[in-house]
Amino acid sequence: MDTLTKKQRSGVMSLIRSENTRLERGIVKALKKQGKSFQQHASLIGKPDIVSKRKKSVIFLDSCFWHGCRWHCRMPKSQRSYWQKKIRGNKERAKIVNRALRSKGWRVTRFWEHQFDKNFDKSVQAAARLL
Ligand SMILES: [Zn+2]
Repeated sequence: MDTLTKKQRSGVMSLIRSENTRLERGIVKALKKQGKSFQQHASLIGKPDIVSKRKKSVIFLDSCFWHGCRWHCRMPKSQRSYWQKKIRGNKERAKIVNRALRSKGWRVTRFWEHQFDKNFDKSVQAAARLL
């Protein structure tokens, strides 16, 4: 049985999380540069990454790892079932959150991390149009 100690596991998590944070910061900076105003992590269901109350629009920046992107999610070698379960849970939660927000009249858009990796400016433009 392969085991990852709690400490190792949280090490993997924080490494991936800090990558996501870095990307998010870049996106937020680019959107602000365009004069967009929005809130971050407003206290709405699912804590959307970017919220425009004026446009009633929310944006989620989905990490390829945490949301199980079919192309880029590389499952850690140890404790596979732990990660699979966790990522499956994230995907299910995302669906529930989408539905809940939409039922309250929010426009919900999810971007994949890889969209920004592939074409940062184009993705920022697409996000900006929603704000
Ligand atoms: Zn991806």
